[in-house]
Amino acid sequence: MALELKLYDTLTRSKRVFAPLDPTNVRMYVCGPTVYDFAHIGNARPVIVFDALFRLLRHVYGEAHVTYVRNVTDVDDKINARAAERGVSIRALTEETYARFKEDVRALGCLEPTVEPRATEYVVNPSAKIDMVRLIERLIAGGNAYVAEGHVLFAVSTMPDYGKLSRRSLDEMEAGARVEVAPYKRHPMDFVLWKPSKPGEPAWDSPWGRGRPGWHIECSAMSGALLGETFDIHGGGIDLVFPHHENEIAQSRSAFRTPMMANFWLHNGFLQVEGEKMAKSLGNFVTIRDLLKDWPGEVIRLNMLRTHYRQPMDWTTKGLEESRKVLAAWYEIVGDDTEPEGHPDPQFLHALCDDLNTPAAVTELHRIAGSLRGHASGAAQLALKRALKASAMLLGLLTQTRREFIASDPRAINVDEEKVASLIQARAAARRARNFAESDRIRDELARMGVVLKDGKDGTTWEIAR
Ligand code: AMP
Ligand code: ZN
Repeated sequence: MALELKLYDTLTRSKRVFAPLDPTNVRMYVCGPTVYDFAHIGNARPVIVFDALFRLLRHVYGEAHVTYVRNVTDVDDKINARAAERGVSIRALTEETYARFKEDVRALGCLEPTVEPRATEYVVNPSAKIDMVRLIERLIAGGNAYVAEGHVLFAVSTMPDYGKLSRRSLDEMEAGARVEVAPYKRHPMDFVLWKPSKPGEPAWDSPWGRGRPGWHIECSAMSGALLGETFDIHGGGIDLVFPHHENEIAQSRSAFRTPMMANFWLHNGFLQVEGEKMAKSLGNFVTIRDLLKDWPGEVIRLNMLRTHYRQPMDWTTKGLEESRKVLAAWYEIVGDDTEPEGHPDPQFLHALCDDLNTPAAVTELHRIAGSLRGHASGAAQLALKRALKASAMLLGLLTQTRREFIASDPRAINVDEEKVASLIQARAAARRARNFAESDRIRDELARMGVVLKDGKDGTTWEIAR
């Protein structure tokens, strides 16, 4: 029987059975990074979570039948300000930041999305199915947008469903709006599609003068160009529900005259650090890059996936230490053999198919690992080992050998593996000769190097002490 996947949809506030609009091309769009600074561990959450979903979709529908688009926001006022501050060109800043982002998320075991479009490439792009300028032209022609003082604004009053995703009425929004409303707006909630650029700011020629796009229009244009007018899944952090995703829906549905933009809206919960909101001022701003100096990428990844994506999450060193122990124990089981791959465990898959319940899936991995300890040897053991490896690999875990994992630990880099191996041999020889004083001395020498020995029936293995 085919796997039944259920996903929680923010728009309907319900868990629904996922049925692709086109099973030969399952289409997902996720809002990507604004490239002006190193990505922090909060930014890593949607990247890892939607990578896990991408992997699951590929498993269920076949690799060739899933298209995952994650955009790069490389035009933004924060980018302009940072480039000016650092005295570098905007292009140099965005290229450098994006290259670092790619390195960071690769180290966290994330696959490359099918397409990673840059916003600047879709402002005016005659070879694309749609671009931002054409989308805005359509909105004006259809009566959904108007030009005022060099700006183009979306008229929210023309969108009867405006507020449906975030469940707010226009009146409530208006009452809650603290921002000073620009005098040229017809309605306080009308939002910018296009704005004029001052000298030195990025600018494109348009029917409304030289200027640049607002933030929301980029995702409507790129998803429309690469995935079509309607597609299966749209994702991002919970903070994007309003106004970003609400406005994307208003733009895309009004321009394309469709009843929906995406069939499912998925949002990850927020992450805080050691019980506090992450902020530079609090000194608890953790970049992916800093974490990778202390922890293997898979440890960071497992730690992220041990919490369900919709739950708020507290990022702690204690959690990382636990995740490291869990992975080390699993690597101990699967070892160094590069055996032919097995199949993911059915109960593990069942957990993932229940709204990407990764903590339940991790519990299933513990169950498999536990039953392996019970089996003496033989075919059952091998099958379980393979199931553990294949299941974990589906989540982007246990992708290395045990040795590679140990070596990938940043705190292990100073350990000379050959020296460890020869000391272990010398210790084994001393033990065979019943020279226990010498074998204890070697054990102590290794301990001083930070290496802990484990004697098993198949010989001695080692790991890095914590
Ligand atoms: P930004 O680069 O700020 O546009 O954010 C990129 C992505 O990271 C968006 O999907 C945000 O919702 C998400 N994000 C930012 N901060 C956090 C956080 N603390 N926890 C979870 N997701 C976050
Ligand atoms: Zn977006």
